Amino acid sequence: MQTVYADNNATTMVAPEVITAINLFLEDTYFNPSSMYEQARKPAYAIRDARKTIADFLGGVAPEQILFTSCATESNNAAVFGTMAASRYRNHIITTAVEHPSILEVCREAERRGAELSIIPVDRAGRLDMRAFVRALRSDTLLVTIMHANNESGVIFPIEELARITKETEPSILFHTDATQSMGKLDLDLKRIRDIDLLSFSGHKIHAPKGIGALFIRRGTALRPFIFGGHQENGRRGGTENVPYIAGIAKACELAREHLSDYRRIEQMRDRLENGLIELIPALEINGRHAPRLPNTLNLACHGIEGESILYELSSMGICASSGSACTSGSLDPSHVLKAMKVPFSALHGSVRFSLSRFNTDREIDYILEVFPTIVRNLRRMSPYWDDAAERPKLDPSPPPSQ
Ligand code: PMP
Repeated sequence: MQTVYADNNATTMVAPEVITAINLFLEDTYFNPSSMYEQARKPAYAIRDARKTIADFLGGVAPEQILFTSCATESNNAAVFGTMAASRYRNHIITTAVEHPSILEVCREAERRGAELSIIPVDRAGRLDMRAFVRALRSDTLLVTIMHANNESGVIFPIEELARITKETEPSILFHTDATQSMGKLDLDLKRIRDIDLLSFSGHKIHAPKGIGALFIRRGTALRPFIFGGHQENGRRGGTENVPYIAGIAKACELAREHLSDYRRIEQMRDRLENGLIELIPALEINGRHAPRLPNTLNLACHGIEGESILYELSSMGICASSGSACTSGSLDPSHVLKAMKVPFSALHGSVRFSLSRFNTDREIDYILEVFPTIVRNLRRMSPYWDDAAERPKLDPSPPPSQ
């Protein structure tokens, strides 16, 4: 049975060129970059070059503004706790209801440690409530942290405008964005968009391995390190550098730059899948369809059935997809993102996300189009929430009170 991997917002296949770049520093050039002998220069230079490659990818910013981390979760932790620790008087943080847990949970922990938190809602389309955002901004706000694109719905937030409004309100408010899902998919020029102070991203969403990430820290941003115990990364993060993966993430950025235009083809595949499924499946909703969206993401709401059962059936046909975010799947709670978007109860549990990459093919889209409608039809036939004769969801017998 073929495997169709359509879960690229969860993680991506490591590109062959990235594996080659990594292997060099596993097989031959394994030396500690801090050592004094000649052999150690190669890994030290590799880190320097990787920083420059990534800085170029982000629009030609100064390389020393790139901090290597172990993942986007660490970058996000560093951004929130690092700015908090560096600030004496300010403790107000603004974020959104649809952030990844590596921001939302971190902000809630910050609140337990004394921060004041404002959480901005989204509308049914997944768009940010701009009025609520403007109202939340205060002259004593410490940090605004808003993701660039959502991992579940794919909805893109107007990050440039949000950062501009923030700085117009008060230039000293710090603006952080979690760009884990937009990196490599959307053009990001941090030389031009000067209002962004901090930006997180991860290797494994751009065809590098899991376990490497980075944080862009604009020069002059007050950020206290939170991993002490070494001079590495200019004293900002102790610990011997992961040279192979640093070389890998730099190679992945280089490739992402070359392949940015592939997203036109990826978007065409996504749109073909979306339109095909709408045609073949009654009462199918597309979450985030009425907002600007990532070109690779398709989040479906299948009224009347369970996302988990759909995924199980898809898996038995070799198709890898996701319901909610991978980090929250395993729990039966519906996704906080879809709840924030007020997706109706009968569709809340039936969400499925397909997310594509440049390694997907038209034939794979054909296969999903062939398999998915039958799975939905069969599951709906057995569902107490679906009226098979009328081809629509039955009225919710008892929507939960939190709806
Ligand atoms: N932010 C977003 C928007 C994500 O999608 C993810 C990964 N699901 C993360 C942060 C966390 O990334 P990592 O796995 O590198 O910690």
